[in-house]
Amino acid sequence: MKDQYGRTIDYMRISITDRCNLRCRYCMPEGVELVSMGEVLTDEEIQQICMAAAQEGICKLKITGGEPLVRKGCVELIRRLKQIPGMEQVTLTTNGVLLGKYAEALADAGTDGVNISLDSLDREQYYLITGRDELHRVLKSLEDALAAGLRIKINAVLQKDINGTEWKSLIELAKEKPVDVRFIEMMPIGYGKQFEPVFNEELLQMIQGEYPQIERDVRIHGNGPAQYYRIPDFQGSIGFISAIHEKFCESCNRLRLTSQGRLKPCLCYGDSYDLRKALQNTKNDKENLESIRKIFQEVVAKKPKQHCFEQLNDVTEEKHMIQIGG
Ligand code: SAM
Ligand code: SF4
Repeated sequence: MKDQYGRTIDYMRISITDRCNLRCRYCMPEGVELVSMGEVLTDEEIQQICMAAAQEGICKLKITGGEPLVRKGCVELIRRLKQIPGMEQVTLTTNGVLLGKYAEALADAGTDGVNISLDSLDREQYYLITGRDELHRVLKSLEDALAAGLRIKINAVLQKDINGTEWKSLIELAKEKPVDVRFIEMMPIGYGKQFEPVFNEELLQMIQGEYPQIERDVRIHGNGPAQYYRIPDFQGSIGFISAIHEKFCESCNRLRLTSQGRLKPCLCYGDSYDLRKALQNTKNDKENLESIRKIFQEVVAKKPKQHCFEQLNDVTEEKHMIQIGG
């Protein structure tokens, strides 16, 4: 699908649950209200939506949440989504706590890549950020996932007052292991508004101070907007996803499906279109497919030119990341 700005839209992020086994302070702090299970899309509904999406040219999916691996049947769902004609790539974003348990099954299901979110390698800081003492399990999962042959990227969000200097140890992971390490600028969505980010421009300067030999890496690493750099002798690359300071909207290729079945053209705005209702209104699979395909066409036609995170008053999205799928 092409939108009105000539962008090819071929990638969808799906939040399959708003539940999570961590309580990251900028995403889902203690006490967050959850949607009832009955409001969350079923496996069959996700499959139907993805079949229609594939017919409209979506060929890459990212399974996210909440924590996708706490949803029962996540691996089987991935296996089924991979089998949809035209679906070229299904990847997963996880906090890594349960990844060790499912690593082999995920590889067997054909998962094309796994992003592990890991903001600190220090046990106490990890606990302060996530509210749980699970760092040891995440690190074990990383080993298990690599042993299972999964392609791994590490994603970290830095906050000035807590893990702002953790980049030093996090980038070492790319030296020791064949993993890319990427820094995501905190976005002013949900609880993220309350914390002071470390901006990537400043971070790159600090890394350059420590590693003067760092240089741009122009190889394609995935579907996203990350800019990559290489440090000699490192096995993986260092990536920067700078939603605030380097607008990448010109090359945006994505839609988002919330856990409740609303299709979003852009992360920053509250506009969304109810696919679940469309599925429930129609009677048979053929009609379902047609009505969902039509909504995909409408949403792509209405995709805004750019986000407005630099103008906070214009951000209209009020949902939290766990519902939207970060
Ligand atoms: N639980 C999984 C995980 O942690 O990877 C998947 C869902 S989580 C919402 C996906 C990603 O969104 C994580 O890497 C998390 O750090 C990031 N995230 C959450 N809130 C954010 C915010 N306000 N700004 C930037 N990234 C955010
Ligand atoms: Fe859970 Fe991921 Fe949000 Fe942390 S970032 S609370 S792991 S959904």
